[in-house]
Amino acid sequence: MTSRREFIVQLGLGSAALASGHSLAQGAMVAESDAQAAALGYKADATKADKVKFPKYATGQLCGNCSLYQGKPGDAAGGCPLFAGKQVSANGWCSAWTKKS
Ligand code: SF4
Repeated sequence: MTSRREFIVQLGLGSAALASGHSLAQGAMVAESDAQAAALGYKADATKADKVKFPKYATGQLCGNCSLYQGKPGDAAGGCPLFAGKQVSANGWCSAWTKKS
C-alpha cells in the first residue's frame, strides 16, 4: 500500500518538474498588456504597431530582424533581453527595434 502511494506521489512530482522545465526552456509569450510591453508599444503583429505614437516604425521592421532578437531564423518566437524569461513573436515589434547589423 505504502509503496504504491509513494509511486503515485513521485509520478506527480516528476511530471510537475517536467512541465516546469518545459516552460522554462520555452518561456511564456510576452503579452501586449504586460507593463513593459505596453510601455514599449510591443505588438505581437508588427503591422499593428501604433504608428501615431511611434512614427519611427516602418513596414518591414520585425522582432525577427531586430538586433536584440535571440530566436533563430525561422523560429516563430524567441527571446528578447528587454523581456527576460519571455518570448516575443518573430513577427512582433516594439519601439526599441534596432536594425540587425
Ligand atoms: Fe522585438 Fe527588438 Fe523590441 Fe525585442 S527589442 S521586442 S526583439 S523589436
